[in-house]
Formats: sequence, C-alpha cells, structure tokens
Amino acid sequence: MTNALKPGATIGILGGGQLGRMLSMAAARLGLKTHIFEPAANPPAGDVAHRVTTAGYDDIEALKTFANSVDVITYEFENIPTEALDIIESLRPIRPTRDALAVSQDRITEKAFLTNLGITVAPYAQIDSLPDLTAALKTIGTPAILKTRRFGYDGKGQARITDISQAEDALKALKGAPAVLEGFVNFTREVSVIAARGIDGAVVCYDPGENVHKDGILDTTTIPATLAAGQHMDAILLAGKILNALDYIGVMGVELFVTDSGLIVNEIAPRVHNSGHWTQNACVVDQFEQHIRAIAGWKLGDGQRHANAVMTNLIGDDVLDHANLEGALHLYGKAEVKPGRKMGHVNQISPKA
Ligand code: AMP
Repeated sequence: MTNALKPGATIGILGGGQLGRMLSMAAARLGLKTHIFEPAANPPAGDVAHRVTTAGYDDIEALKTFANSVDVITYEFENIPTEALDIIESLRPIRPTRDALAVSQDRITEKAFLTNLGITVAPYAQIDSLPDLTAALKTIGTPAILKTRRFGYDGKGQARITDISQAEDALKALKGAPAVLEGFVNFTREVSVIAARGIDGAVVCYDPGENVHKDGILDTTTIPATLAAGQHMDAILLAGKILNALDYIGVMGVELFVTDSGLIVNEIAPRVHNSGHWTQNACVVDQFEQHIRAIAGWKLGDGQRHANAVMTNLIGDDVLDHANLEGALHLYGKAEVKPGRKMGHVNQISPKA
C-alpha cells in the first residue's frame, strides 16, 4: 500500500496506560517503535516503549517535539484536549481521525450520529438544568440513568434515578456537568464487537464477546457470546456501518445491549478495548496488532479466532494472587495496587465450539 510505514518507523501514542503498553508490544513485534506522550510519571507503557515524553497536554513545545519525532499518531483514550490535537494535527496524521474522537467524546453527539445511521440507542435527552431533567424524566420515565456528556469511564459520572424525586440529588452528584438522561434498557446481556478498518477500507470484525460488569467495571468477557445467528450478524453489520461512516482507520470497540427487540448501541470507543483482550490468546492477529497494522497502512490481519476464551480482569487486590492464576497472564506493571484499578487480566482458552 502507498505511504505504508516501514519497519523502523515510529508510532506516537497519546496516553501511556495498559492499552498503550500492549500497543507498544505489538508494534515492537512488527519492527516498529513507539513514542508515548503521557502527563503522569512512570506510565505502564513506558517499560516497553522506545521513548517516553512526560508532559502535560497543555505543553505546546513538548507536543510539537513529540509529533515531529514520530511518523503517525494514535491514542489509547478518547479524552484528549482539543487544543493538543490542534497542535499535532498539522504536523502528523492522527489515526483514527479527529471525527471519530469528536463523535465519541460527547454522549449526545455520539447518540445523534448513531441515530442518523439508523442504529438504535437508548431513549435520551440533553440535560443542562433541573427543569430539563424533570421534563425528560416525564417523557423517558424511570428507572433512568443520568450520565455526564463527557469524561465518563468505568461507570463513573453516572447516577441512577428510580423516582422523579431523586432528580435534584442526581444532578448534584454530577456536579453541574452537562449531562444526558438515558432510559434504562432492560437488556438480556451485554456484548461488544471489536472491529477494525484498514486504510484501504477493508473491515475485519472479531466475534462478539459477552461482557459482565462488576461495580461498573468490566469483569469478564466470554467468547462466543450467547447470540442468535441473526443478532451475531446484526452486531457485525452495525459495527461495519459505523466504521465506514467515519472513514475510520484502526480498531474500535462497539458496546451493545441485547434486548428482545434487537440490539441497542451503548457506546463506541475509538481505540483498542478492554473487551478485546481475549484476542491476544484466541486469534492469530490480536486487536493490538490489528490496530498497529491499520494505522501503519498495512493490510489487516486475519481476525478469525481459533479458540473459545474467557478474559477476566484483575482489579485491585485480585492481582495479589497472580502467581497462582491459571491461563495466559497479562500484567500491566503498575507499581501501586488500588481498589478499582485495572492491574492485569487473564485469558483462559479452550477448544473452539
Ligand atoms: P457506560 O459507562 O455508559 O458504558 O455504562 C456502564 C455500564 O452501566 C454499562 O455497561 C451497563 O451495564 C450499565 N448501563 C449504562 N447505561 C445503561 C442504560 N441506559 N440502561 C441499562 N444499563 C446501562
């Protein structure tokens, strides 16, 4: 392919967490280097990357030096300040593009984008005040979930409302941040599709995984998900539709609710995704290599799985038992164990069913 990166080239990654670490390891296997840009000291990705810049997203000089030192820029989280992107964008290509980031950074923009594509989302309303919220609760009904429009992750920035009398407290819990009210979806299960799109427009989707959350954080992903054949195909088709609409380059995670009346998209993440970690041990080409291949302008790899898999996250103290765990162990090298902190994961695989 034209303009494809050659081995020895450098990929810039915004963010130095575990996703940046596993992207760096995949890049190294392909003969590519990574340069991590991360405000916090000693990031997990720093142990395995070629180079690390420790600087804030408001450090214009550091951003310029970073961008000038790499061939292409990608990111491992979506909440990168717009001003930082403005600076680096003129220097190097950003993949996936800023459109994908803009859509996924704001829950209202995301839902409007998906609705326009004919994809179903939970009933929702924009909330900027208490009158907005009481009016929306009357039309959407309870139970409902109030979420911040931006910067939410792992169930943070959310308040469940079971009765209209809780409206004021729910708004206070979100500290006045712009919000969205979502109707509560009575889902039978949660699944996600990890999908990739190459520079040539080719799309490769991994089989959907079934996700179970604990305290708002992903606990396990099981493959295959329990899905009727029609739902399996619907999940893959709608992921492909989203990628094409964004002219996307890279890997995306699409989180779905399965209901009796069809699939509902919860959210999209324009990056490699925790619910795709199972691909490391059950596929020839995992989500990390696939993302690197896509942003390097290489042909996508084979996303077929050769095994069934269960991925279990190691959250907080779970990691203390690491030496005794069965399965393929992936630790993130984080020095400090904290409650709710993702410390690693284990992939258990079994013959493909
Ligand atoms: P989110 O941060 O939006 O991915 O939400 C975290 C988790 O909260 C989801 O994975 C669901 O388990 C649950 N959740 C979020 N939104 C809804 C909804 N509208 N209806 C039911 N459950 C939800």
